[in-house]
Amino acid sequence: MSTDKLIASLPAGACRSRGEGIYSIMARTPLGDVSAEKLNIINSVVQDFHLPGVRVTGRQRVQLLGIKEEDLQAVVERLGQVGEVCKYFVQACVGNTACRFGMQNSLAMGADLEAFLNTTNLPAKLKSGVSGCSMSCAESYVRDVGMVGKKSGWTILFGGNAGKQVRKADVLAESVSAEEGLKIIGKALDFYSENAKKKERTARFVERVGFEAVRKAVFDR
Ligand code: SF4
Repeated sequence: MSTDKLIASLPAGACRSRGEGIYSIMARTPLGDVSAEKLNIINSVVQDFHLPGVRVTGRQRVQLLGIKEEDLQAVVERLGQVGEVCKYFVQACVGNTACRFGMQNSLAMGADLEAFLNTTNLPAKLKSGVSGCSMSCAESYVRDVGMVGKKSGWTILFGGNAGKQVRKADVLAESVSAEEGLKIIGKALDFYSENAKKKERTARFVERVGFEAVRKAVFDR
């Protein structure tokens, strides 16, 4: 298979080139989870293909660097499912599974959110973060979709962005259950999908249409 065809067959963003026939591949590490089995696979690929190493990205992903073009197909095959990046992945903190401040199980919530998001097809890139408490270690307030755990349930955030035009997300709902939270996010994303311009991120969308329009679409339709 040609390199172009191989890259086209991978999920968007899974394989990147810095030019000169050198590529990198993003391993699949859902919610920052890297099991011993995955570490072994990644480590064996790094050693066998003499890669310079891996990089842990700011969004809890593991990127294998320095892959030569002639090795790309073999690396993809060796990585198997570990190399299968999903379309919309979720950043999450450990929440009450391992943090003393955690009010909710952000890992379980993040897994449910990720499964839900990957049933959708959105107009632009979507970043999301699920935090177990208001310290917001998963950066929920500057994500397109954010969730923050409180004793009473989840705060649902929409329209945040941490890029060069930083925007703090608006609060769509407070103290809702996990199930309600997903429904609210689904309705907000439906409205966004129906009305956003191509490649318009949620932050710019909310600025253009106004947060009240999003709120009405979620609660008054
Ligand atoms: S957001 Fe809260 S629960 Fe999550 S890691 Fe940070 S302090 Fe702990």
